[in-house]
Amino acid sequence: MPFLLAIDSGTTSCRALLFDATGRVVKVAQEEFKQHYPQPGWVEHDASVIRDLQIRLTQAVAGGVSTDEIAAIGITNQRETAVVWDRKTGEPIHNAIVWQDRRTTDICERLSEDGLGDHIRQTTGLRPDPYFSGTKIAWLLENVYGARERAKRGELAFGTIDTWLLWNLTDGKVHATDVTNASRTMLYDIRKGQWDDTMLEALNIPSSLLPEVRPSSGSFGETSLFGSKIPIRGIAGDQQAALFGQACFEPGMAKNTYGTGCFMLLNTGCEPVHSENGLLTTIAWDIGESPVYALEGSVFVAGAAIQWLRDEMGLLKDSAESEQLALSVESTDGVYVVPAFVGLGAPYWEPNARGAIFGLSRGSTRAHLVRATLEALAYQTRDVLDAMAADADLLLANLRVDGGAALNSFLMQFQADILNVPVERPTSVETTAWGAAALAGLSAGLFDLDGLAGLRHVDREFEPKMYERKRSKLYAGWERAVEAARSWASTDIDDNQIS
Ligand code: ADP
Repeated sequence: MPFLLAIDSGTTSCRALLFDATGRVVKVAQEEFKQHYPQPGWVEHDASVIRDLQIRLTQAVAGGVSTDEIAAIGITNQRETAVVWDRKTGEPIHNAIVWQDRRTTDICERLSEDGLGDHIRQTTGLRPDPYFSGTKIAWLLENVYGARERAKRGELAFGTIDTWLLWNLTDGKVHATDVTNASRTMLYDIRKGQWDDTMLEALNIPSSLLPEVRPSSGSFGETSLFGSKIPIRGIAGDQQAALFGQACFEPGMAKNTYGTGCFMLLNTGCEPVHSENGLLTTIAWDIGESPVYALEGSVFVAGAAIQWLRDEMGLLKDSAESEQLALSVESTDGVYVVPAFVGLGAPYWEPNARGAIFGLSRGSTRAHLVRATLEALAYQTRDVLDAMAADADLLLANLRVDGGAALNSFLMQFQADILNVPVERPTSVETTAWGAAALAGLSAGLFDLDGLAGLRHVDREFEPKMYERKRSKLYAGWERAVEAARSWASTDIDDNQIS
């Protein structure tokens, strides 16, 4: 049976997975790498470390079988993180600037002041925010000595992590990315399918720096690093790969990933849907026909709130314990936790909001707090889904879930209840890596879309069981809690601290 090799280059760890053609994991290797925080709000990675680690892990996994049996490689990656390197030496000119990094806030403010906010929304589907790659490239060209001149002379190359890995896997022969990663740069016109001159000009980025943009499933060259030559046939950013891995092939299908944060993507078909409700419009994939678009809502703190209960509050031994504690009480007894530790993402986009706990009474216990924190993940997902429903005129048949916290069955049941939509958990939680492998396998002719949909197996479906009256009452409480957290954001926090 042919195998597919997935390279899954995440924010905190690199992974390599070998799948058989039915989607079963045959072998996995994973290792974390160092995060660099040179200043508050700055996050960097050493791209050379990622390159070396990713190649070593992939070698270890590929070594399990004869490379002739590996039909193709698929790559999925942390999105938006920007690397600029010297085309001749192959060495990065600076650490990679990671998607979480906020150092380019002032560049984004300048873009908005220059009246480019609407252009960015209409053309790129995004919003002026340091999250995306474009302003990170501008910062590198501005702040690394000689970089702008070298870029103008065509000596430098830019890439997101997929592009950086591809360039190294192909020994510098292929400088390309896929449409999903391009659509996260804030430099790419997602309708016309080309780099956008207005944005390149606004950020003073020479086009010679940029990779060629290709469909997510198709030829990306080949690599000889793991024995005999293996074609690279799939690339997609991690959230889009998960949408594909969850077989959300039809418009109106959505997935939500409950990891550190929550990322919900809704397939909206061949037309990009412009959001009036604080969501992003992005490319879901292109499998060689024309792009499929998605609406995306990102919640910054989800599973991270459970980590906070465990590590900072000391309320849990491990994340899994949250389930039995939540089930040990009938309700939160009116307690709400708003985990806005780093502000609020979609649909609020309130960078100054901060976390808050409401409704405490003398009888509030650890179990109530833990339950309220888990419920907050579900409420935040409802916020995003309501925004999607308003933008896309949507009635969701079910929500497909993955990520670490999707293993929590209390949370999944509460999610179904608060959305009034069934929640479907697949047996394999490796949906991101499988999405990349599946894009590669599709291009290698191992299966078609129907065949792929048939490979997905459901572990459990959570049906909504809550009465409408209770659902409305609980959600109204959440909305009040969020409002209160937002009004806290607008008060002068420094003054409050002085007294
Ligand atoms: P990432 O890929 O973002 O690192 P994962 O998909 O590995 O995240 O999920 C890990 C996150 O899920 C952690 O934040 C952890 O606290 C949370 N988590 C893991 N298991 C559970 C559980 N049973 N209940 C609630 N949260 C969980």
